Amino acid sequence: MDLLEKISSLAKRRGFIYPGSEIYGGLAGFYDYGPLGTELKFNIKQSWWRDVVQLRDDVVGVSSAIIMNPKVWEASGHVGGFSDLLVECKKCHERFKADDFEGVCSSCGGRELTEPRKFNTMFKTFVGPAEDSASTAYLRPETAGGIFVNFKNIIDTMRVKIPFGVAQIGKAFRNEINPKDFVFRTREFEQMEVEYFVKPGDDEKAFKDWVKNRLNWYEGIGLKNVKPREQSPEERAHYSKATVDIEYKFPFGMQEIEGVANRGDFDLKAHEKGSGKDLKYFDEEAKEKYLPYVIEPSAGVERIMLALLCEAYTEEKERVVLKLHPTLAPYKVAVFPLLANKPKLVGLARKICEDLKKDFVVAWDERGNIGKRYYSQDEIGTPFCVTVDFDSLEQGDVTVRDRDSTKQERIKIADLKTYFQEKIS
Ligand code: ATP
Repeated sequence: MDLLEKISSLAKRRGFIYPGSEIYGGLAGFYDYGPLGTELKFNIKQSWWRDVVQLRDDVVGVSSAIIMNPKVWEASGHVGGFSDLLVECKKCHERFKADDFEGVCSSCGGRELTEPRKFNTMFKTFVGPAEDSASTAYLRPETAGGIFVNFKNIIDTMRVKIPFGVAQIGKAFRNEINPKDFVFRTREFEQMEVEYFVKPGDDEKAFKDWVKNRLNWYEGIGLKNVKPREQSPEERAHYSKATVDIEYKFPFGMQEIEGVANRGDFDLKAHEKGSGKDLKYFDEEAKEKYLPYVIEPSAGVERIMLALLCEAYTEEKERVVLKLHPTLAPYKVAVFPLLANKPKLVGLARKICEDLKKDFVVAWDERGNIGKRYYSQDEIGTPFCVTVDFDSLEQGDVTVRDRDSTKQERIKIADLKTYFQEKIS
């Protein structure tokens, strides 16, 4: 089994990631997130939100509708240009993204392809009862559009001053021709995006700062195999003055988990034209009115999640450990009574578990022997296990076992909260 297979099998078996609508045979490019995957995604999003919104004075959040007026996507250029080149195998009619085709059809071995044609990857739907072109709408292909259309609302209602940013986390949908590499390329995913508005001329410094900030965040959550890569002018979108892809070394190669782009005034200009509304900003200090430039860091939650799983997956002699950063681990602590049939042990362990739950996400396990319980918690990345034994009843302390070192120490029950708070930050 290669690494990606091992990870996807662990993810399924331990409740992180399930194939979407599995009992009906699945649906390509869609996944469901199980109890542990939901916690992990939540922790990734929370860490990002804290870093880019709550710990800063200059970024605010929004949460916009997934379905917006279709004019938004006409103005942004998505209706006209958000497309991939599609080719089809002439023998078996399998379809490929032209960029991905490697000379031979992976389905039947055929070598003859149709001419490439453009395929718009936005999902279409209808709003209201009539299914006609007047009611056509799109599932958003990115969250950024919802930020730009609220630029004026935010300026009018919040006390923001340039430079400032607006952040959003939410679902995005792309009808990818070839979803692949587990949750790396899917048709429904979550994005975490910031649009950071600056005075033209201040954009290059802001761009560099954002690339640095984002790399620091990745380092802080324990992702080591991350590298920035500057896109060449030929690669860049026509409106972009500079783009840095932040890439992770996946088992299938170095691939983008986030893009940071200097988009100039492309978006606000396009929405000014599309909506007919004045989106210029009046700069009180400079006493001038202008369309701000924007720096956009845009990351994918599932790609980061997959990178974290790849980085954390460790095989040791007798165990598999997910060495996730403690702040991201689905459970922070697992509590066990040494024996499940001793009411006094179970009672004390339950009490400790309930107390710790006030401050941490805690798992309870009383099945099998302690060794098996450790193994089971290691595999899902729980940083600490607490075992309540007969000495605990007498002495008021418990055994705390560390996931990475497997070392055990006795800690007073009364000190557990501060002990974990110090370790998990
Ligand atoms: P790619 O070139 O891999 O298709 P992209 O350059 O189109 O990605 P962006 O439009 O810059 O991606 O989107 C920003 C982020 O959203 C990406 O860095 C990625 O993390 C995430 N993302 C984009 N498309 C997908 C997808 N199909 N599945 C999962 N995540 C995605």
